[in-house]
Parts: sequence; structure tokens; C-alpha cells
Amino acid sequence: MTWPPLREELRGIEPYGAPQLSLERAPVQLNVNENPYGPSSAVVADIATAVAHAAVTLNRYPDRELVELRAGLAAYLSADTPHGVAPEQVWAANGSNEVMLQLLQAFGGPGRTALSFAPTYSMYPEYARDTSTRWVAGRRDGDFSLDLDAARALVEAERPSVVLLPSPNNPTGTALPQAAVTTLCEAVGDDGIVVVDEAYGEFRRTGVPSALELLPAHRNLVVTRTMSKAFAGAGLRLGYLAADPAICDAIRVVRLPYHLSAVTQAVALAALRHAPELLGRVDDLRAERDATVTWLREQGHEVADSDANFVLFGTFADRHAVWQDLLDQGVLIRETGPDGWLRVSVGTADEMTSFKDALTRATRESA
Ligand code: PMP
Repeated sequence: MTWPPLREELRGIEPYGAPQLSLERAPVQLNVNENPYGPSSAVVADIATAVAHAAVTLNRYPDRELVELRAGLAAYLSADTPHGVAPEQVWAANGSNEVMLQLLQAFGGPGRTALSFAPTYSMYPEYARDTSTRWVAGRRDGDFSLDLDAARALVEAERPSVVLLPSPNNPTGTALPQAAVTTLCEAVGDDGIVVVDEAYGEFRRTGVPSALELLPAHRNLVVTRTMSKAFAGAGLRLGYLAADPAICDAIRVVRLPYHLSAVTQAVALAALRHAPELLGRVDDLRAERDATVTWLREQGHEVADSDANFVLFGTFADRHAVWQDLLDQGVLIRETGPDGWLRVSVGTADEMTSFKDALTRATRESA
């Protein structure tokens, strides 16, 4: 018997996670798609006051049903759809990672299948594994879009109870057209749910709609969001979803009691009060992203179109060597995606200058 007596399928597996390096080792951190702009001192002060108020109540359990927070998130989401979003359509947890795990706990499980289309977010197969859900990955086309006929056929063959569709996709940055969401919601029908993961939704280009608009048409549609990216709150750990109220009720069966601490709820509400400021750099980041795409193409690289706050580019015969060379110059990016590609998160203008200089040196050396 091996020790510790771990589930067989977990033995020898490394925990998920990008390298976490100190700022001394890597002063320019462009590897986990964070928002580079921290809160102003006024927002910090308001958050501190909110935490102080929550601290007074810490002898009691927090609101298990997240009533005030769900109302605040519903109001925020309502700006993205003409149909509006009601509080009972919203659920929240510690990051959209936990939201997604709860969805798999409720709708996946032994004898059930979760399906996505590769390349895609590498945590999805882990949620499936951890909930003993069978995992099936279809393929995206060469330009990372979805072939809708093939996607529909795969759904009809595999009958998944959960389909995971990030839009914009990580690591490619590709947003899905509404037709893809509609097609897959119809193909899945009442046998399952379709999760459109809009972790990067706020960064989408002008004219690209949110899947929130499709909620009234499909009761099996779930749209997830997070405060980790555009909202500049990665450290907060607050993810949420909008869906039919029956789906929110189903999740309440599997969630741990009091899963969202009073402190988290208070900080998330403070963040919502300061949404205009926290989201205030989204347009700058979108412009910086577009400029990065243009610059990379001018250098002769292949670049995926991006609706997110990161850019996938390549291809390199030895991508690890390029990644390492950048790191040696203090710029940490991500070695992820299909063979030969690298992903860079969009940082401040200064950070992107450091990235471009480092990449120019790295590729000149290896040429
Ligand atoms: N979905 C996608 C596509 C992501 O890239 C990430 C974070 N990298 C998440 C969900 C999870 O984010 P969080 O748990 O911080 O909300």
C-alpha cells in the first residue's frame, strides 16, 4: 500500500498552478491574467471599513444565502442584457473555480460526462476528475473557433450533462458567437447544462455580446463570471453565475454551509460599490491588448485574435527556451496552450514595453 492512501486516480499528480515567483525574481508578472492596476487608497479605505463592520459580526456565521451580494451582482450583470438579471438567478462562491466545481458536483458525477473543446482552460478536466465525472474533449479548429456541426455531433454522440464553453476562451482569447451557444444549448436540451465561462467577459471587443442575453431563451444555460480579472480582485476570490433559479437552488444542495465568509461578502459588496473605478482600466487594457496583437504580428509571429486580457502567440520550435529567456530577463509569461505557443497577460504600458524588449532579445538570440 502506498502512503498516503490517496484515491488511485490522484496518485502522482502534481497540483495545478502556474509558477509563483517573487517580484525580485520576476519583476514583470504577466502569467496569470491578473489586472495590473490595484485599488486606489480611497477604495482600500472603504474596503477596510467594510471589513471592520464584518469583523464585529465574526462570532456569527455569515449569510448562507448571500442575499445582499446576489442582489448587487444581479444589478451589475443587468447592464449586460436587455432582459435584466434577478437576484434569484445569481449564485456566488470563492472564485469561479469553486462555482464550476459546485456545478460539476451538482450536475456531473459518476456515470455522467463533462465536455469541452480543446485547447481550453486546463482546470476543466480537474473539476471532472475531482467529481468522478467522465471527461471528453472535442477539438477546436485551427483558428481556435468551433465547428458547430462537429460540436453538435459530438454532443449528440456523448450526451454530456455539463458542457463547458469559455468565452473568451483561455488560453486562446477566442470569443464564441451567440449561434454557438444557441446550437449547443439546443443540442444538450434538458439532459444537461451549458456553462458559458465569461471569466474574461468584460474584455470582449465592441459589438461582441454576452451570453447573458440568451438566458431567457435557454433554461439549461449558465453564465459564469469572476471578480478576479476585469474587476481587479484576484485576491478577493469571488466568482458568480447567472442561470435559471432552479439551477441556483440545485447548487445550494451541494455547497458547503456558509461557504462564503462574511469578510468575502463584505469586500465583494464594497468592490461592487466601486465598480466604476475598479473596472476603470478595462478600456486601457483592451487598447494595450490590441496594440500587443498588432506588434506581435508585425514581428512576424502568429497571434490568436483576443477578446480577453491576454494574447496567445507563437509558434516556437522550443517555446520553453523562449519562456526561460524572458524569465531570465525578469519577465514571467505562461508556457501554455498548444505546442509551440506562449501566452502573455496584458499588463501596464511599461510592463508591455519590458515584455516586447525581452521578447525581441530572446528571439534575436535564438534566430
Ligand atoms: N475560467 C477561466 C477561463 C479562467 O481562465 C480562470 C482563471 N484563470 C477561471 C475560470 C477561474 O478564475 P477565478 O477562480 O479566479 O474566478
